[in-house]
Amino acid sequence: MRETLNDRRVSDIYQELLDKIREKTTSKLFDTMFSQDSFELKTLDDNKALFVADSSSNATMIKAAYLPFLQRELEEITGHHYDVEITDRSSFLKRKEAVEGATTSFFRNSRLLPQYTFDNFVAGPSNRDAFLACMFAVQNPAKSNPVFIYSKSGLGKTHLLQATGNDYRVKHPEAKVLYITSEDFLSEFVRFIKGRKDSENLKDFFNTVDLLLVDDIQFLAGKEDTQIMFFNVFNLLVSQGKQIVLTSDRSPYELKGLQDRLVSRFSGGLSVHIVNPNKETLIAILRKKMQINSLPENYFDDKVLDYLAFNYAKNVRELEGAFTKLLFAITIEKPQGNITLPFCKKVFDDDEQRRSKKGKIDVDRIISVVADYYSLTDAQIKSNVRTSQIALARQIAMYLAREILGLTYQVIGRTFSKDHTTVLSNVVKIETNLKTDAGLRKVVDKLTDIIKSGS
Ligand code: ADP
Ligand code: MG
Repeated sequence: MRETLNDRRVSDIYQELLDKIREKTTSKLFDTMFSQDSFELKTLDDNKALFVADSSSNATMIKAAYLPFLQRELEEITGHHYDVEITDRSSFLKRKEAVEGATTSFFRNSRLLPQYTFDNFVAGPSNRDAFLACMFAVQNPAKSNPVFIYSKSGLGKTHLLQATGNDYRVKHPEAKVLYITSEDFLSEFVRFIKGRKDSENLKDFFNTVDLLLVDDIQFLAGKEDTQIMFFNVFNLLVSQGKQIVLTSDRSPYELKGLQDRLVSRFSGGLSVHIVNPNKETLIAILRKKMQINSLPENYFDDKVLDYLAFNYAKNVRELEGAFTKLLFAITIEKPQGNITLPFCKKVFDDDEQRRSKKGKIDVDRIISVVADYYSLTDAQIKSNVRTSQIALARQIAMYLAREILGLTYQVIGRTFSKDHTTVLSNVVKIETNLKTDAGLRKVVDKLTDIIKSGS
């Protein structure tokens, strides 16, 4: 589709251009050099106009005699400045072959899975910024370059990256979207370099990409040659106004083994962090999964949803695993009526037993894990002492009680002998700081893991 639209425009422009050339050239010369097929305007992409002459000597002559003229006339006709390149047919065909070869090679690992859509993604406080950044990238390509999404694993980076590609394709069916993991990028790059030494071809290949999505960029760490190559690709696409979206398991600044200039490029756009979803979002994700699986809205009792969101909250992948296990049990056992908590507990019996050995999670456990971490006593955390260390530990404990247990502000307030507005403001404070404070995030993630692992 892109070809036809583009070709039509190109051939119209070329006809106009030919008329101008005809006015300036004797008819004999015109016939030999510019008549049908002996000279062609092949592509008009971004700022480049590529002409192909039928022989290399004609290409050389036209270049010598007409280059500024072609450039000027083209600008007059289109209102745009184009850098004119004139090549001969056999070089052009060779290059085309290389580009197409590269296209198949690179795109072989580029798969956009249809289930990863923005519609299937549940946005909540933990991932809303990332969700919006990706939608923004589709609506306003290259306004923020790159969009850089980072999080622990299983929190939806790949989903969002693929959804970005899928949505972009819906809006621009003709576009070339390249989704690739950085590991595939690396191996394709090595293969390409081994096969063909001509890096110009690689540049030509990336010239055809409209949207570049690279997943798990952290694997470029320590791979110097690939980084250089990626740096060039990055600059090339950015200079052409193409959008780039990257994901990583950590922020640009935390990526060790990456050249400074790459880090500075990566952090020069819009970096957004996804954190663990809260209980409400986890439940919304379960409801979405039910909907995708055509299950009736109230098929799972609320307690079942609570149970899953509480016990399988390490990340969304874990939650999905539990959901799938439950669906499987339902298919086998075909229970009558709705899915109840006892049925659900039976399905997860193994996990139940393991958990009961390790001890239950409640506010007291949260308080004692946080207290241990900061070398404080439980009583200090519950006290009114306001030294900064104790106050921070207390705020984190309240935040975790809310996040992990989904307790109301009133209930948390009772444990800490504070009123619910104090609890609310403490929780909000941590939520806000988590967005910008990587150190705090690490602490909170670590505490969450300790609390949930029961060790
Ligand atoms: P990551 O790339 O960060 O490791 P994925 O994108 O692979 O995580 O997500 C793991 C699974 O969880 C995927 O199947 C994805 O569809 C699902 N998932 C993650 N976040 C959400 C969300 N907010 N809404 C719906 N599904 C989600
Ligand atoms: Mg991923």
